[in-house]
Amino acid sequence: MIDDLPAVGRGASPAPVAVTRTTNEDVRAQNLSAVLHLVHAAGAQSRSEIGAVTGLNRSTVTALVQELLDLRLVREESVKPTGRVGRPSLGVAADDDVVALSIVVDPRAISVALVGLGSAVHSRVRHDLASPPSPRRFAHVVASLVDGMRADIDRHYRLVGAGVAVPGLVDSRGTVLLSPPLSWRREQLAHRLSDVLRMPVAVGNDASVGAMAETRFGVARGVRNVLYLSGSMSGIGGGLVIDGSLLRGTSGFAGEFGHTVVNPSSALCSCGRRGCLQVEVNPATVLALLGRRGLDEDELDIELSVARDPVVLAEVARQVDVLSVALTNFVNAFAPEMVVLSGYLGVLLATSRERLSEAVRLHPVGSEGRTVRLERARMRSHLMQIAPAELAFEAVLNDPSAATSQL
Ligand SMILES: [Zn+2]
Repeated sequence: MIDDLPAVGRGASPAPVAVTRTTNEDVRAQNLSAVLHLVHAAGAQSRSEIGAVTGLNRSTVTALVQELLDLRLVREESVKPTGRVGRPSLGVAADDDVVALSIVVDPRAISVALVGLGSAVHSRVRHDLASPPSPRRFAHVVASLVDGMRADIDRHYRLVGAGVAVPGLVDSRGTVLLSPPLSWRREQLAHRLSDVLRMPVAVGNDASVGAMAETRFGVARGVRNVLYLSGSMSGIGGGLVIDGSLLRGTSGFAGEFGHTVVNPSSALCSCGRRGCLQVEVNPATVLALLGRRGLDEDELDIELSVARDPVVLAEVARQVDVLSVALTNFVNAFAPEMVVLSGYLGVLLATSRERLSEAVRLHPVGSEGRTVRLERARMRSHLMQIAPAELAFEAVLNDPSAATSQL
């Protein structure tokens, strides 16, 4: 009987649930999680669509949906039939009244968004900074921004906690081991912020969080093996999703692709080595040649599309060449189905798609006929508004009834 098996792994969106449970109650909990993961990532689904994706039979889907409705994690809304004409049917969507705080910190700003389980951004506030904040100042600013949202949250929503994306190495307990852009070292951030906000707080590396969100909601949705690379002034971060799960490594921070050494005789990197990828491929030199400061991704797109200065074009071409060598190595090492470039690397892709596509074309023995898709991140700035909330939703998504009993 097919319902004896958990639904995870049968084409549902990547669901990081271990398939080790055995009792009926455990299988039910796991199927509940699979259904919630699906409507969370894919939006409103009819019951028959849920059945088709999870492989669960009709009566099981009906019972699971009812349980999620009782837990007030999903709500009913009409969905259009896909691919054929017909009347809209009553579908199931993640309930946006279940919310998490989505917090992003970089050297120039702290932003806090209130994000629903269905990915709605209910509100967003941003605090600009003149210099990188100390951990203490960061916690103080976040607390005051959240205080301004409290009345709204208490009146309208059920809050599960907060997720924070940090540019740096973060361990599985939410300690920032090192963040060169923020000058933080061995900072127990989850602990500190949880004390101040009086709610559960989860912390992750910004690129890893971005990688997970891009595979759940963005251009890599449903793709099981993805290499995600994101570039900014702060450096290059990455995430590797293998069989639907983010590779964490023994220390919890695998995917430091920015510190791949590509030119040992070049300039010093913040990590202490010379010629790391993020030193060689960086918007700072391009912006300096353009005579501009602080352009965002969209503005830099426009600037480079009209740039005619041969010095600027030569520097962009040099960086694209370095990036393509690195991409060839990464693709040969990990054999992803898709490479997603985000931030500044997405800008380089827009200027030089041909050159970079050639870099991910596999040539090694045994790879005949296999192509690696190269895509620019789709969600762009919206992604980083909602991505950190995923850290906070993890407990609810993985064990809906246990987590909801604490709300
Ligand atoms: Zn380095």
